[in-house]
Amino acid sequence: MRRAYEVIVVGCGGIGSAAAYHLARRVGADVLAIEQFHLGHDHGSSQDHSRIIRRSYHDPAYIALAAPAYELWAELEAESGIRLVYKTGGLDLGMVGTTGPKDLTHCALSMAAHGIPYDKLDAGEVMYRYPQFRLPEGAHGLYQADSGLVDAAKANAVHVALARLHGATIRERLRVLALKLVGDAVEVITDHETFSSRHVVIAAGAWTNHLLQSLGIIWPLTVTQEQVTYFATPHVREFASDRFPVWIWRAPEEFYGFPIYGEVATKAGQDVGGEEVTAESRTFEPNPRTHERLVRFLEAHLPRFLGPELRTKTCLYTMPPDRNFVLDAVPGQSRITVAVDGGHAFKFATLLGRILSQLALDGRTEYPITPFRADRPALTDPTFRPIFRNEVVLRR
Ligand SMILES: Cc1cc2nc3c(=O)[nH]c(=O)nc-3n(C[C@H](O)[C@H](O)[C@H](O)COP(=O)(O)OP(=O)(O)OC[C@H]3O[C@@H](n4cnc5c(N)ncnc54)[C@H](O)[C@@H]3O)c2cc1C
Repeated sequence: MRRAYEVIVVGCGGIGSAAAYHLARRVGADVLAIEQFHLGHDHGSSQDHSRIIRRSYHDPAYIALAAPAYELWAELEAESGIRLVYKTGGLDLGMVGTTGPKDLTHCALSMAAHGIPYDKLDAGEVMYRYPQFRLPEGAHGLYQADSGLVDAAKANAVHVALARLHGATIRERLRVLALKLVGDAVEVITDHETFSSRHVVIAAGAWTNHLLQSLGIIWPLTVTQEQVTYFATPHVREFASDRFPVWIWRAPEEFYGFPIYGEVATKAGQDVGGEEVTAESRTFEPNPRTHERLVRFLEAHLPRFLGPELRTKTCLYTMPPDRNFVLDAVPGQSRITVAVDGGHAFKFATLLGRILSQLALDGRTEYPITPFRADRPALTDPTFRPIFRNEVVLRR
């Protein structure tokens, strides 16, 4: 059995499977990707029918990544013949007068600066286009036509399949216990055997610190248990994806939702609606308080979206204190590259895989990732207060 590779990827969730694919396109059989559970498991962050994709972001750093992400998803669809992205249109909604990052003005300005077309709508205009909504006076919205969803489960499976096609070895049910620098190589010690490689990509989601710890590093990452609920609405025609968009209600209590996709049911959740956990302490039990807040919001603003609860699915966010990604070499270890997702990365997954492949093989990337450096204060300054702290603490 082969023990030495050019690059080893730890983790085959959304980002790791994308990294394995982009690496295999360049160095073929010199790639090994290792997953601790079975492929397609739901212990992490990436396994569900849908994740929102959008160009609309409050921070231009992400808008700059949106165009190449859409392009790479399209290339992946062309190579695989499998449809992954569905453009349904998207609404960012909120109240006029909201301050801080949830103020829709930031999204509008960032989109305008990047030449992204959008429509600015008042509450009446939103409800004229989408009578499914009941919005209060003083609500407003931004509509962007390219928003939609990525089929996350299929995207992961496609990345894995094509990584294999390009020669990568994918090992599942194998846990990496530690990483160790030995001369010019990195030893990847698993619960069965030890491998050696010139580069390692860590795409380990909620388990990131478990691996960094073996290198003497711990980052201030907060893991929360989040959830989405599928509602078997009887009003299927109104919420089909040709008539209803993805949406985000931007407010201190932020909710988001999808048209019918994957199940004959709508889907919605609350962003940072869950409690702080660890990868070990998380349960798969839905939080009834989060569920109650979601249902109250939907009763008030999207009553016909509701229906008998089909199921509630739990999932993990892994967030640096500023909720921005980390895409960088581990400090002092140029052979080890790490990605942390901040709880909003799936829409970029295939691009992040490309970026990680370039960082690992070339030591640099063509994409603008300076805001995601590992030496920024959010990771190095112990007094940096997590921007989501209030949400997590208040909801306990
Ligand atoms: C409820 C919810 C809704 C979301 N909605 C959106 C959305 O609408 N749009 C969007 O863009 N993003 C969204 N996200 C965020 C997005 O899903 C994540 O950013 C993304 O899936 C993170 O992928 P990942 O590969 O980093 O993590 P994961 O999918 O968790 O993958 C990490 C993998 O590494 C493996 N691993 C860890 N340690 C080891 C080890 N030691 N050895 C071997 N394997 C290991 C794990 O088992 C896991 O498979 C949402 C997340 C949640 C939870």
